Amino acid sequence: MSALPETVARPILVQKFGGSSLGTPGRIKRAARRVAASQGAGYDVVVVVSAMGDSTDRLLSLASRVAKDPAARELDQLLSTGEGVSAPLMSMALNELGVPAVSLLGFQAGIQTDRRHARARIVGLTPARIERELADGRVVVVAGFQGMGTEMDVTTLGRGGSDTTAVALAAALKAQACEIFTDVRGIYTADPRFVPSARLLTRIAYPEMLELASSGARVMHPRAVEIAEAYTMELHVRSSFHAGPGTIICSEEAIMEDRNRVRGIAHEEHVARLSVVGVPDRPGIAASIFAPLADADIAADVIVQTASHEGVTDMSFTVASADGREAERILGGVAREIGARTVLAQNGLAKVSVIGSGIRGQPGVAATMFKALSDRRINIEMISTSEVRITCIIQAERVKEAVTALHEAFKL
Ligand code: ADP
Ligand code: ASP
Ligand code: MG
Repeated sequence: MSALPETVARPILVQKFGGSSLGTPGRIKRAARRVAASQGAGYDVVVVVSAMGDSTDRLLSLASRVAKDPAARELDQLLSTGEGVSAPLMSMALNELGVPAVSLLGFQAGIQTDRRHARARIVGLTPARIERELADGRVVVVAGFQGMGTEMDVTTLGRGGSDTTAVALAAALKAQACEIFTDVRGIYTADPRFVPSARLLTRIAYPEMLELASSGARVMHPRAVEIAEAYTMELHVRSSFHAGPGTIICSEEAIMEDRNRVRGIAHEEHVARLSVVGVPDRPGIAASIFAPLADADIAADVIVQTASHEGVTDMSFTVASADGREAERILGGVAREIGARTVLAQNGLAKVSVIGSGIRGQPGVAATMFKALSDRRINIEMISTSEVRITCIIQAERVKEAVTALHEAFKL
């Protein structure tokens, strides 16, 4: 009697481990045991790894010690080496456990991106090699955060971008599940390192998670959430160190609990404000201010234009502090061209945001937010709102107090 052919496809599981989950050889071995267990349970496993511990920061600091303004291409080449270390180490640790494994860099995994260094976007994914390795019974360990741009140049996806590698692979491989292992137990109502009373959420909807991530909660890379939503890929965020259910990021319909409320508070430090003062008020002025910033790939955020007075107006907006100086330089030129009076720059600001689908059409939320801040005598410098978010710009040194106050005010 001949044996049955072993052609039944095994479900694919993508497991991503963040830097702190891989900070030491011991932690890599611990993560490898988790992967081995999943493989033993019947999954074809694709592992995505970040660089070990704070090695990306250390590489950045090395670069800053040899050059004031290193070329973006060389920085990407350098930063990608962090994941280039952790991926083979993970593969070796798996082999050591008797699990056949192979590590692949971004280009070997078929991850194609555009050419925007330091913030590249994945434009194509050809997972043929991964599929072949899985079919041969190997666990595939992919270096996160990196891809291949034009001319085979290495690109990186932006800080925190390994999440995006994991979700893009999960979508391309039609994985059954995508798990994000990190150093906290899941997604909380606020950064648990900032607000000790923050509460772990069982589930959170994609739009809410996207706003949290885009508003500074670095636990997920925003682009990863966008891709997950586009492919309705549920993400499971959980701790590398503790057993526990973690948080499921899923569609709004899949959430049964009371949706009609604020779900979380996010904060972001290192925000700068730029103001173009005395701008002649005529059509096209905003475009002439923001187009050159967009050309330089600088994202302008909270934008406020004051009411026009005697034909002139002021235009203020925020950028990440890291982009502040470049934005000021660009605006200096623009101000001269459009005949604006001057450009002012202010550093040392922060953003606090309250987020939840329930904010739609509930004026009380804004009122509660402003009162909570004013009760603590925290001055609001700028305000912006979206369907599911209200953001206030405040002084950076008050940010912890502000997040705590809002967490209390909304009874999270
Ligand atoms: P990893 O290295 O695993 O990718 P990150 O440092 O990128 O981990 O993200 C995890 C961190 O995100 C946590 O240590 C926590 O301080 C921070 N964080 C910010 N906001 C939240 C939130 N709402 N829920 C959970 N963690 C958050
Ligand atoms: N190592 C990269 C970073 O520190 C990518 C990641 O961790 O997701 O930003
Ligand atoms: Mg991260």
